[in-house]
Amino acid sequence: MSTATPATGSDVLPRNAIFDELGFPTDPDNLYTQTVGQMLNAAEQMDLQHRVKVILAQPKNEVMVHFPVRMDDGHFKLFKGYRIQHNNVLGPYKGGFRYHENVHLDDVKSLALLMTFKCALARIPFGGGKGGVKVNPRSLSEGELQRVTRRYCAAISHMIGPDHDIPAPDVGTNAQIMAWFADTYMLSSEHADNNALRVVTGKPVEFGGSLGREKATGQGVADVLAEMLPGIGIPLQGMTVALLGFGNVNSWAGRILQDMGAKVIAVMDHTGAFRNDNGIDCHALAAYSEENYGIAGYEKQPTATGSGTNAAAGVEVIGEDEFYQTKCDVFIPGALEQMIQPKQANMMDCKVMAEAANAPCTPAGDRVLQDKGVEVIPAILANAGGVTVSYFEWLQNKSCVTWDADQVDRELNRHMVFAARRSMVAREKYGCDLRTAAFAAALEHLGAVYKVRGIFP
Ligand code: GLU
Repeated sequence: MSTATPATGSDVLPRNAIFDELGFPTDPDNLYTQTVGQMLNAAEQMDLQHRVKVILAQPKNEVMVHFPVRMDDGHFKLFKGYRIQHNNVLGPYKGGFRYHENVHLDDVKSLALLMTFKCALARIPFGGGKGGVKVNPRSLSEGELQRVTRRYCAAISHMIGPDHDIPAPDVGTNAQIMAWFADTYMLSSEHADNNALRVVTGKPVEFGGSLGREKATGQGVADVLAEMLPGIGIPLQGMTVALLGFGNVNSWAGRILQDMGAKVIAVMDHTGAFRNDNGIDCHALAAYSEENYGIAGYEKQPTATGSGTNAAAGVEVIGEDEFYQTKCDVFIPGALEQMIQPKQANMMDCKVMAEAANAPCTPAGDRVLQDKGVEVIPAILANAGGVTVSYFEWLQNKSCVTWDADQVDRELNRHMVFAARRSMVAREKYGCDLRTAAFAAALEHLGAVYKVRGIFP
């Protein structure tokens, strides 16, 4: 084992005996070890059968595929893809697939595990899965993106299915990609019926998608905050927010929270960072960012809004450290994994951190925040809105009905509020932090199902 101080460290969590039993890596910075460590930390507080802990510590299936795609210049490039099926004791495997140049097996495994717990906590009848292709989608033309998507679908089509494993969007993928994916799956003679439409969620509304799916993860973050903040003593009206990341999740969380009366005072993405103590208009920034693939340059825009005012006025460009140091009520990491390490956590000056991204904070970063008294709302609770509306989409496809936007919002709110309450009840019961409590609330459900189902044979 390395004796160097780990950069992101899981050393704050005791190395569980199950790690050695299953031959886990000893690298404390490994995201999978960290994620399983957090789950087992919750399992230790409860009366859970050893076999359930061991089963949940590893995915059921790990698939890696390699497939060639013809690029626009005529040459063929080989791509690497993954589909991890973590657990299906509660229902079909469910979870997105991402396009990112840094996709690695252990990261996809971690994200698949988190899906199992997210679905269990939200009481959605799905298990957990995750996929990905190692590619920067921005480096591809639209034609190349489509061919990569169709070949990825073909490569994993034998192991997914509308009642077996249902992919969805994640980092770097979107509704158009889901449409190509569904079309490819449905065109194969084996799956050539309309039932196959349910093989993927997050589709465009005109092709079986659900109203409210695009904003669902951001809406869920807002619903959880609206449920929990009054108890923490922060009024929604006028509360100050800092957003780390401004992609689908955080641009929607920002717009929705702004419409609820919050003030977004700092935003940072991979292209730059801004601050405006009077509030950044997330609607104008989202429109700009979508067109320009990032927020950089927004401050120079004479972005005249409908009212004729310049939405970008007062926006000041800041550096990374200044962004993290921004004093705010709620800090929302909605970008990639492991971004909040001790260095960032030490700089942060917030009362609540709501994890809109999956696994944005390392155990060592988490400990710093805990010591500072920051209330951390964990990802399996805060970002469960996306998969919840995916479930509604799947239900609508299955029963050939269309829900209106109000019904989607109402049902989503109900699921998010109950997931939040379940986590708070578990916190009382086990006397632990909210992350451990959310895992414990999910584990109670998973453990109960394993108990009645038993282990075959
Ligand atoms: N990728 C999203 C997540 O991490 C949504 C998954 C889904 O809709 O199945 O929760």
